[in-house]
Amino acid sequence: MKESLTICAVGTAAALGLAQGAPSAPLQPRDQRHGALILSFDDRNFADWLAALPLFERHGAHATFFVSGNIDDAAVRTMRRLSEAGHSVGLHGLAHANADEAIAAKGAARYYTEEIEPQLEACRAAGIPITSFAYPNCRRTDEADELFRAHGFAHVRGGHKGVAPYDPTGEKQEGLKPVHTVDRVFFPASEAASRLRLDTVIVGEAYHTDIEDILACIRRCAERDEAFVLTSHGIHPDATRIHMKTEWLERILATAEECGVAVLGFDEIKPR
Ligand SMILES: [Zn+2]
Repeated sequence: MKESLTICAVGTAAALGLAQGAPSAPLQPRDQRHGALILSFDDRNFADWLAALPLFERHGAHATFFVSGNIDDAAVRTMRRLSEAGHSVGLHGLAHANADEAIAAKGAARYYTEEIEPQLEACRAAGIPITSFAYPNCRRTDEADELFRAHGFAHVRGGHKGVAPYDPTGEKQEGLKPVHTVDRVFFPASEAASRLRLDTVIVGEAYHTDIEDILACIRRCAERDEAFVLTSHGIHPDATRIHMKTEWLERILATAEECGVAVLGFDEIKPR
């Protein structure tokens, strides 16, 4: 771990044009950092998300918050506060329906009218811009991707299957490697803007996360100028199941900052 951190520090100094070993380098402007961590949180964990705002701010980091269910007053208030703090907000479906199943059952047009449009209309009425959608349970099809593209979405978020190397008891699963060694999880950061679909790894005890492995993913992004998409749900000191421990988020954001990796919301992904 120490060795990797040293590599990050050298990379940052070199990017800044500083001599190696220079004393603590200032934080690079966000658009000049190497690599990107595209971080997102799902569903309706409003209190957790708002409580985490100072932590994001301390590290100069932004995320995307994908909201499911009615865009009611609580959702609008939360989405506005997140947006005002520089974060991105996106949609996650009115009924959290699996897109593949819903489209197969009632067709793409009716799925969009019933599942997406009510959320979109409410955001429009509240003046909240929306450019991205996260598939509930990462369930999608190519037809679904094209549906969102045709409706003008800049990005949809799917998921990577079979990337958690440990089973529920913590045993190593045969054939699965640490996430930071799985090439298909990473892509050149310069390609992020042109990709409609950004597929994620999910973090939480329920997903058998090894936080050290996730930190190694961030260091890899810095060293190779790659991007990596990471998702959880709530953020809480005692988080279990599908949620992210605050300590994990702190370590993720601190590592990204130390390595010069930009932590970006979906709306901040711009062509280079
Ligand atoms: Zn969800």
